[in-house]
Amino acid sequence: MDFDKNRIERMNYNKFTLSFPKEKEILYRKKYFKDSILQLRIALLLLATIYGLFGFLDFQIFPDYANIFLKIRFLVVIPFISFVLLFSFSKFFQKYWQTLLFSSFIIGGTGISVMTMFEPENYSYYAGLMLVFSAGYFFIKLRFFYASIAGWITLIIFNILAIFIIKAPIIVLITNNFFFISANVIGMFASYNIEFQKRNNFHLNQKLDDEKLIIEKLNKNLEKKVTERTQELTLAKEKTEAINSNITAIIEGTTNSIWAFDNDYNILYINHVFQQEFYNSFNVLLTQGSNLVKGLPEDLRPIWKPRYDRVLNNEQFSIEDIVNSPNGKIYIHIDFNPIIKNGKVIGGSCFGSNITERKIIEKELLNAKENAEKSDKLKSAFLANMSHEIRTPMNGILGFSSLLQEPHLSGEKQQKYLEIIEKSGNRMLNIINDIIDISKIESGLMQVSIKKVNINEQLEYIYSFFKHEAENKGLQLTLLKTLPDEDVIIKSDPDKLSAILSNLVKNAIKYTSKGFIEFGYHKKQNNIEFFVKDTGIGIPNDKQNVIFERFIQADIADKMARQGAGLGLSISKAFIKMLNGEIWVESDENKGSTFYFTLPYSNNILKQTTANNIVQSNYNKNLNLKILIAEDDEASTSLLSILVEEISSKIITAFDGAQAVEICKKNPDIDLILMDIQMPNLDGLAATKQIRLFNKNVIIIAQTAYGLSGDEKTTIEAGCNDYISKPIDKNNLFALITKYFKK
Ligand code: ADP
Repeated sequence: MDFDKNRIERMNYNKFTLSFPKEKEILYRKKYFKDSILQLRIALLLLATIYGLFGFLDFQIFPDYANIFLKIRFLVVIPFISFVLLFSFSKFFQKYWQTLLFSSFIIGGTGISVMTMFEPENYSYYAGLMLVFSAGYFFIKLRFFYASIAGWITLIIFNILAIFIIKAPIIVLITNNFFFISANVIGMFASYNIEFQKRNNFHLNQKLDDEKLIIEKLNKNLEKKVTERTQELTLAKEKTEAINSNITAIIEGTTNSIWAFDNDYNILYINHVFQQEFYNSFNVLLTQGSNLVKGLPEDLRPIWKPRYDRVLNNEQFSIEDIVNSPNGKIYIHIDFNPIIKNGKVIGGSCFGSNITERKIIEKELLNAKENAEKSDKLKSAFLANMSHEIRTPMNGILGFSSLLQEPHLSGEKQQKYLEIIEKSGNRMLNIINDIIDISKIESGLMQVSIKKVNINEQLEYIYSFFKHEAENKGLQLTLLKTLPDEDVIIKSDPDKLSAILSNLVKNAIKYTSKGFIEFGYHKKQNNIEFFVKDTGIGIPNDKQNVIFERFIQADIADKMARQGAGLGLSISKAFIKMLNGEIWVESDENKGSTFYFTLPYSNNILKQTTANNIVQSNYNKNLNLKILIAEDDEASTSLLSILVEEISSKIITAFDGAQAVEICKKNPDIDLILMDIQMPNLDGLAATKQIRLFNKNVIIIAQTAYGLSGDEKTTIEAGCNDYISKPIDKNNLFALITKYFKK
């Protein structure tokens, strides 16, 4: 607040009467009355007393006039002063007090003046008038203005009396007036000055009171404002605290790392996650105030310091990095942000997240994508290869079948064509079998059927099967048996073992153009280790593993040159795995390959010279069976009829299941039914079930084209005695029939 000196000092008043403006004057007079009343009473009392006491002088100085003087004193002046004194206790006094004092001054003065008139030459009583002046101006609290008027009136009355009533000598007049005028002038100026000072004090006090009021008001306002501000601040503080605690909860509750540092890399803030991870990684406990760079192992400082420097250079960026932690590699993503205050970088903040899981998923997705692309390529290669593999034998079958229809063909040519057709058919069958096998393996339907297997016999069978083919190619085929027959019985799946060996020997012949092929086995601890060795084209190192995957061929460019769908090895590998063995290859390009596989060997197995599942190729042609062929396909019916002709006395055919049941009912002497499974009206299984209701003895052999595992089980459950899959091999069929009709 500006302090305005003038505002306080300037007093507005009438310079002549000293009066203030109206309201202020009222206030002043009130205060003046209050301040004066006591002194006034004392003054009146004293004056009355002194006025009375001077009566003694009357007797001494003017004994002649004492009587009249005492009358003036005790009948006029003192009673009047006493009246005023008494009246001063009245409540109306305040209204008239100045008038009454004014009158008292004049009356008191006039009284003395009259006394001086009796003996003007005697100066004794003139001093009394001087006393009246001094009392009127200074003692009785008469205000300056009234006192001055009263003073001059008193002087005028004196002069009127002196000049006109007693005709006083001029020297007396001059001398007295000289004193009296001086007394009045002094009284006037002095009382003016006193009253001015009083009024000025009053004015200043009032101003001070005003200022006090203003200051008090300001103080009150200030206090109110301070209270309001305090409340606002408290509220803001509470809000900030709430926000702060929320932020802290978020920062501390997150699984991300958060930290901030100043321009000297000292930590301003660090959350628990980062503290923990840093400790786990570097065995250093960072706290507020620790140095981020110094906390790092020396080799990491040149990597991290430049990052922090970039932030401190007001750069905002993100990085991805790998951290070696005790739990392995952790992928991290960190956002770096400068902290700016008043336009200046005062530090940096970091927000780090662990993206290991995301990275792993990304990698998996990438692998999956690569695999998908690879398998897409493989699929195309497979389809092209399949197309080739199926079309080639089809070409042979269809081409030579139409050639057969030509008239006048020589018997020799016919025989040659038929051989080609049979070969092509077999090749096609191989492919179909492979595809069925691989789908059985993949769908988990391939079953293992463990029996006793004589390894030597199996190998001999393979040897005799492929000997001819190898020799035709100019290759020497040798078989190595290292154990006597009685020691080579193992428990395994003979069909699968045979398929594995066939595949490997077939491949050896296929991929070898000169030299030899040797196959056999060695006993190694608890395993039999089989091998098939050739001197063929070999397999490049980088292909030696993948050839065991389906559809993979080592030399795709060359694949057209040789038969094969790339399934043989993967089927073999799957079979070997099912039989608890292992397969691998050792190979040198252009030198040859050796395929090895193991099967578990246990000596506890019963020594047995003859296996019970060896296909019997000698069969009895004089069975004379009455046979029912239930088959909806005409070609198949004809083929079957021709095949079984030599062992039958009568062949009846039925074209669906219902017909078969009817025929059975009419012919209870039927020996054998070759029952197709898939037939219209009533299928083979349902027909078998119905036949079994009235004929338990007839031998029913199911024939199925599905080639899927489980066929055997369902057919036996339906009531069939056995099962054979299409295309039907004469040897297999006769072996089966002989099993039931040994005569
Ligand atoms: P396929 O012989 O039908 O192509 P396989 O699964 O039997 O399929 O074999 C896969 C691939 O392994 C063959 O295409 C061939 O490249 C390679 N391979 C297999 N056996 C031999 C072998 N004895 N000599 C050289 N290469 C072989």
